[in-house]
Amino acid sequence: MKFRIVPSTLDGRRQLLTSYLINDSLAIDAGSLAIGLTPEEQLKIRSIVITHAHLDHVFSLPLMVTDLFEELREPINVYATPSDFEAIQQHLLTPRVWITLETMKNSHTKLIAYHPIKSAESFFAEGLKITPITVTHTVLTHGLLVEDDHSALLFTSDTGATDRIWQLAEECDKLQAVFIDLSFPNRLTDLARVSCHHSPATLLEELPKIKSGVPVYAVHLKAMYQHQVATEIASLNHPRIQIAEVGREYEF
Ligand SMILES: [Zn+2]
Ligand SMILES: [Zn+2]
Repeated sequence: MKFRIVPSTLDGRRQLLTSYLINDSLAIDAGSLAIGLTPEEQLKIRSIVITHAHLDHVFSLPLMVTDLFEELREPINVYATPSDFEAIQQHLLTPRVWITLETMKNSHTKLIAYHPIKSAESFFAEGLKITPITVTHTVLTHGLLVEDDHSALLFTSDTGATDRIWQLAEECDKLQAVFIDLSFPNRLTDLARVSCHHSPATLLEELPKIKSGVPVYAVHLKAMYQHQVATEIASLNHPRIQIAEVGREYEF
């Protein structure tokens, strides 16, 4: 399985908005898809799974879909909970802010096909089995276990200390990597706790719950604190924890 973090800042190295690309055709979240990818790369994305409707995870969805307006011959499949899709429709796809879902079509197709998802109910998209599991965030948020025949990757999305997703990880023999929220530096650990994210300190508390032997990649480093967080992780020198590089293509 191929994986990369889609860039969202001018230097291409910090993660202001959240989007992950798997095998070129599946995106997890739509924060930066219209920003960090070429039009050709965007056109290859056939399905997008939304973990929650926070702005950094959905920001560029309306822009991407309308940018591709002329090129699309089939709709982009958007997988989200009904409440998240309703939030996108009510707050982004409105005439005051952009255009409505109903008007998103060209002469060939509607531009978005919506597919509702439910906690703990697996579905298939782009040849991958995807299982959404609720995590611990300020709004209902789903981490995702993404599996092909040979490997599996687990994405926590935005979360603080949590449990159910680690049980799922424990049961997955082909799990290759965990991608976990690491938003704040240690001096903001209190903020990390109340906003349901992680700092290096809370990540270390969480680590014993994460299936042993599986590498843990930190993602979602807030752009302003990236260097602080990276320095703190480097000083831990922990064999299991590394920071995932934005823009680098990983193969699992
Ligand atoms: Zn969030
Ligand atoms: Zn976020």
